[in-house]
Amino acid sequence: MAHVICAPCIDVVDKACIEVCPSDAIHLADDTSLAEGDRKNMAYINPDECADCGACADECPVQAIFPEEDVPEEWKEFVEINAKAFA
Ligand code: SF4
Ligand code: SF4
Repeated sequence: MAHVICAPCIDVVDKACIEVCPSDAIHLADDTSLAEGDRKNMAYINPDECADCGACADECPVQAIFPEEDVPEEWKEFVEINAKAFA
């Protein structure tokens, strides 16, 4: 399992999560394999690198980060959106 970044990050991207991640699992849009047209202005968690420690979720000022199993229904698509950024 991994943590997932959801819609509230879009256009906020203050990077507080990136600074605390012990696994360097959080990447900005430019640092993913996403084509330019598919990029949202947000941070993405690589599920293959995430250690599920939860440190990032505690730091996020807009509560954009959830454990995969707790992602709110309205943002479920972000599980795929994060994973596909590194496909
Ligand atoms: S849960 Fe931990 S390892 Fe995973 S992205 Fe957040 S800070 Fe990094
Ligand atoms: S701390 Fe929250 S708003 Fe800031 S980059 Fe990370 S997920 Fe986005």
